[in-house]
Amino acid sequence: MGAQLLDGAAVARAIRAEVAGEVEEYRRRRGSAPKLVAVLVGDDPASTVYVRNKVAACGEVGLRSEEVRFPATVPQEVLLDRIGALNADPDVDGILVQLPLPKGLERIPVLLAIDPQKDVDGLHPANSGRLLMNLPAPVPCTPAGVIELLDRYRIPIRGRRAVIVGRSEIVGKPLAVLLLQRDATVTICHSKTDDLPGVTRQADILVAAIGRPAFIRAEHIRPGAAVVDVGINRVDDAGLAASYLGKDSPRLRLMRERGFVLIGDVHPVEGMAQAGHLSPVPGGVGPLTIACLLRNTLRVARARREGAAR
Ligand code: NAP
Repeated sequence: MGAQLLDGAAVARAIRAEVAGEVEEYRRRRGSAPKLVAVLVGDDPASTVYVRNKVAACGEVGLRSEEVRFPATVPQEVLLDRIGALNADPDVDGILVQLPLPKGLERIPVLLAIDPQKDVDGLHPANSGRLLMNLPAPVPCTPAGVIELLDRYRIPIRGRRAVIVGRSEIVGKPLAVLLLQRDATVTICHSKTDDLPGVTRQADILVAAIGRPAFIRAEHIRPGAAVVDVGINRVDDAGLAASYLGKDSPRLRLMRERGFVLIGDVHPVEGMAQAGHLSPVPGGVGPLTIACLLRNTLRVARARREGAAR
């Protein structure tokens, strides 16, 4: 028996349809739709695709958007000046800076430079502080997507043991806060955790946000657990890909055409065999991250222009 797949793409479509309806209503009320500006520094292929997908998704739900590009060699002050100009531009509702930044640029000053009222990724300390205090704030998109996925599949959170592997500011830490707010008993693991399989096997809900392909194996998963795989890892070695996907997987053909395949942090075959629910990669958390970004853009626009709760 295999795990039930948590179809993030389907949940994302539902959220996008909801957002599209609300954007249309906003546009009728105010004359124009909210506008998101995505800042891309450098030409990292994955970041370029993420930004392109985010801008395209805006168009699909009726949001206005703009991509601002800088070379990887841009001086930090130039980047900060541009963010300052976007903060001051009344036509801009949401600003995101695609992470990671190229070497030589510091992430924290860039995140601090974004007006918290326009911070659609919810990464400014003013917003992460509000999240910690349970006050309305834009919630980081990937953790928000994980909660949406659990909720829409009616996977109970309250009272359950949730284990998150990964403690990044973007995923692990804010997700721990969200799960705690929903009355889960939360454990965060990281690279220094002793006996990782012993800890993760206690999880009713296991979230992997590590950045290592197929790292979570059968030994890490309690049989029947709900497993959410946040990882997105490009694997371009055909032998490795076959070891993760099985040598007969149709995805190997795609790999030969494209030169790489996306593998999550959970071993796809062992995860399917051991978990009760599993989010696939691709098609799991990734589409939800974008759907939650669209919703955040609408929410920050309403909050800033109309005083609605974020
Ligand atoms: P990150 O900042 O690199 O953090 C990785 C975390 O994993 C760190 O806390 C690290 O521990 C932990 N870790 C690394 N090796 C480990 C090990 N052997 N055992 C236990 N923990 C270990 O990564 P991130 O930005 O959170 O991203 C994680 C993954 O999610 C990546 O694949 C990324 O591409 C993906 N992602 C996907 C989306 C989406 O939309 N689906 C969004 C964001 C990120 P230490 O803190 O001790 O170093």
